[in-house]
Amino acid sequence: MIKENLKIVEENILAACKRAGRSRDEVTLIAVSKTKPVEMLREAIEHGMVDFGENKVQEMCDKIDVIPEKLNWHMIGHLQRNKVKYIVDKSYLIHSVDSLRLAEQINAEAQKKNVVCDILLEVNIANEESKFGLSSEEVPELLAKIKNMKNVRVKGLMTIAPFVDNPEDNREHFRNLHKLFIDMREQTSDNISMEVLSMGMTGDYEVAIEEGATMVRVGTGIFGARNYNI
Ligand SMILES: *Cc1c(COP(=O)(O)O)cnc(C)c1O
Repeated sequence: MIKENLKIVEENILAACKRAGRSRDEVTLIAVSKTKPVEMLREAIEHGMVDFGENKVQEMCDKIDVIPEKLNWHMIGHLQRNKVKYIVDKSYLIHSVDSLRLAEQINAEAQKKNVVCDILLEVNIANEESKFGLSSEEVPELLAKIKNMKNVRVKGLMTIAPFVDNPEDNREHFRNLHKLFIDMREQTSDNISMEVLSMGMTGDYEVAIEEGATMVRVGTGIFGARNYNI
């Protein structure tokens, strides 16, 4: 099943890149493996997947412990400050930084471990009450404060778009985040370089690619529906 699903997702990504006049290698597919057993990740690895997304610190650490392959582990879930220390040297990229306090904690823990941690700023682009993330206005303010942190590197922006039936309904949100991403390129400094735009999930990754996503996070489309009751 995973093999077939990956083939379909890959075809969809390629088609979206073509429609947008973009090259396929501008887009990284992250397999979101949260709640899924290690066997399923192994299958995805066999079929060439390298980038995996998890939203819980404990689950990500458990999986890293039993999977020997060198993979890119993406922390995509809301992150509590007291858990930063467990993943700061294991994450390829932390997508969900939404406060100065969290960025400071990551910087401090990264310093202790003598690493530089790559992060994205999470933006609540549709201003949904139920969602974590910065408002667009808060992004330049936070970037200015992160500028002097030596063990954190900001690579770009991330958003979780609203859950919609019609992916076209999110096009405007993706377009707005892309605009912000381009504006923020002017904030480049030693530790800020806007290269990554992480947006698009199973329901809307094709629209996200058309609007400039460089990373899409696909769970259900690769591994099937999640069961949270087990
Ligand atoms: C679960 C999750 C995804 C994947 O969602 P699907 O709809 O299953 O593709 C992507 N991003 C984040 C932040 C998630 O928590």
